[in-house]
Amino acid sequence: MARRAQHLTQQHFGRAIQLYAPLYLSNFCSGGCAYCGFASDRQHARRRLEPAELADELAALKAMGFEQILLLTGERTPQADFDYLLASVRVASRVVHEVLIEAFPMSTGEYRQLAEAGCTGVTLYQETYDPAGYAQWHRWGPKRDFAARLEAPARALEAGMRTVGLGALLGLADPLRDAVALYRHARALQARYWRAGVSLAFPRLRPEAGGFQPPNPVSDMQLAQLIFAFRICLPDTPLVLSTREAPALRDGLAGVGINRMSVASRTTVGGYGRASPETTGQFAVSDERDIATFCGALRQRGLDPVFKNWDAALNFGGLT
Ligand code: SF4
Repeated sequence: MARRAQHLTQQHFGRAIQLYAPLYLSNFCSGGCAYCGFASDRQHARRRLEPAELADELAALKAMGFEQILLLTGERTPQADFDYLLASVRVASRVVHEVLIEAFPMSTGEYRQLAEAGCTGVTLYQETYDPAGYAQWHRWGPKRDFAARLEAPARALEAGMRTVGLGALLGLADPLRDAVALYRHARALQARYWRAGVSLAFPRLRPEAGGFQPPNPVSDMQLAQLIFAFRICLPDTPLVLSTREAPALRDGLAGVGINRMSVASRTTVGGYGRASPETTGQFAVSDERDIATFCGALRQRGLDPVFKNWDAALNFGGLT
């Protein structure tokens, strides 16, 4: 499976590994996800990036070479609502070429406003496609609405977003059932929104402040097999791996199924620039290598780190 996955990855993506950085705008959240360090029952400092701080963080990321930034925030709160996110997208789209968001499910109209402001993609993981498990681990807040979340990526594409990112949080429920459901979700969106792009990620539960233990732990071997299977079944769909995973595993999967990766990530609010990361992270990062070290490891394996594969001049304010 690994050999076939590597061959297909090279056939469809060459040797390129596209790099991006997550940027946490806020850790305010009204959600009660049992596995998350930002859940509203966690006792730690809350803050959001103010416009000047956001500009500073973006400048730091730009200086590091990043052109693709994923802006993250929790469920809607008065401190970090839609208007705050929209303003943040406007600021970011003036600095880097590709701005993506990972936030709360929105209406088609809200997604359209974000697309017009320069956002090109929406990442929204279903966490688990098992409704019973979903109800168990999403204890309160708007995220309890399984269907609203499931349907949001379609609304984002309907509104003109260029890409959506899907995923299941591996460890929450039966990983094989979630993988099959994730595959079906991706295929349904690809069939209906054939001009748009769908990418898939494989986040695995990591330690966080609340000490949540994965009820269905996924081994390195299982994770690798899932990634290989997705590459074989969806040869031209971008597959993403974050710094949740350890360096050796990331190095082994780069170009062997995986073609898009985060690097040098902070999961705190602030931490790239001068904004002090005085908050607890959403989860623990496992690969803490800096960009030069990580890119060196990629090149040693014959891979090309790519920071920019999209130009803001191509943003037409949506696909529809
Ligand atoms: S996973 Fe998202 S919605 Fe749930 S508690 Fe964490 S930040 Fe909030």
